[in-house]
Amino acid sequence: MSADEQDQMLDLVIEGVRPYGAGEPVAVAVDGGVIRSIGPDARRLAAAERIDGSGGIVLPSFVEPHIHLDKTLTRRFPGGDAESWEEADAVQGGVKRTFTPTDVESRASRAIELAISNGIGLMRAHVAIDTAQELISLEGVLRARERWADAVEIEIVALLEESIVEHPELLHQAREAMRRGADVIGGIPNEEQDTRGQLSHLDALFEIAEEFDTPVDAHVDYDADPSQKTLELLADLTLERGFEGRVLASHCCALATYPQHESERVIEKVRRAGITVCISPLANLQQVGSVGRLPVHRGSSRTKELLDAGVNVAAGTDNMNDMWFAFGRLDPLETAYVAILSAALRTEAEVAAGLEMVTNRAARALRRSERTIAVGAPADLVVLEAEDLTDVLRGLSSRRLTIKGGRLVGGMATERWGAGGGVPRASMEGAAQ
Ligand SMILES: [Zn+2]
Repeated sequence: MSADEQDQMLDLVIEGVRPYGAGEPVAVAVDGGVIRSIGPDARRLAAAERIDGSGGIVLPSFVEPHIHLDKTLTRRFPGGDAESWEEADAVQGGVKRTFTPTDVESRASRAIELAISNGIGLMRAHVAIDTAQELISLEGVLRARERWADAVEIEIVALLEESIVEHPELLHQAREAMRRGADVIGGIPNEEQDTRGQLSHLDALFEIAEEFDTPVDAHVDYDADPSQKTLELLADLTLERGFEGRVLASHCCALATYPQHESERVIEKVRRAGITVCISPLANLQQVGSVGRLPVHRGSSRTKELLDAGVNVAAGTDNMNDMWFAFGRLDPLETAYVAILSAALRTEAEVAAGLEMVTNRAARALRRSERTIAVGAPADLVVLEAEDLTDVLRGLSSRRLTIKGGRLVGGMATERWGAGGGVPRASMEGAAQ
């Protein structure tokens, strides 16, 4: 360490952390939003702010690749107990008609705050473009993005959520959404009645993507139903249009129900097209179809086969406390944990891939470079109280600190205690107030 470095006042020093859980604890020194030094000596550097990592793990901050920020926290509306798919869709449509930009901003902000406390530094948020509320959701989420810009980076997908064949006017709104600040064009081809309609839906997405030079993010084949086949259409179009590496396909639940030879053909096309498959393990485990009287959950596509074939797989929250899914905590560790269980990932390498679905694989899905902890890398980090990466997933971490652009922006602390050990003093004092 040079004399200059010792004299300089840095923004932040995180002491006693192990990058990726390996080796002895070190210090990570940060300045100007960038990691300046990593090692035992870095703890001696002067800094405006210091964090005690208590021997925990430091990772690059998490990436949330799929969340509906506009609909989140709307479960409280009447009709929230809808049981069937059609009922939920109808109720959600009614709920959307009540949205105002202020209401959307307020709910999205509560979700964003949760995301920050959970260690998310980058997220992709879907905003519905539909006949119920036109661009109201976009306006609300744009405001929320602005409000939290220092703490988390948010990409917005303008999601065409209804049939474009029936409502071609929605394409004008999607273009307007792109002009107002959306970053990605999205759609749901399965909203169309037939293959021809699905193809023209997807074609329209690619046309807008070409016009605005953006990636494509499509919800495809979200039922456990082998007759849904839009993933293959999407892969064909991606190859035809030269969009390799710029397309994300969410859900892809039907793929798991195809005969083996058919799924292998589709997976090979998906690989060649460089499409990322984004699963939603939480919501899709609860949502069911049925074969006879047996409930069949929508599941996690063919995650293992996709990974083995070299396809990038990411995992996202999708819906949270809305008509589609009552639960959800916007916690990437919970998403990774459930992804690992639902996709039956067992070996050390497979479990590591599961965790990557909310870190590097999710970053790749959003076309970002690999997130690293190295001198010169952005200081977008999360500090976790855990021994190793398996421990992170076992405990879902009890203490977490989120650092964005070199500043501490959020986190959580949990004190645990049992009656035999006595109530911690701090808790008693807190309870007395
Ligand atoms: Zn979704």
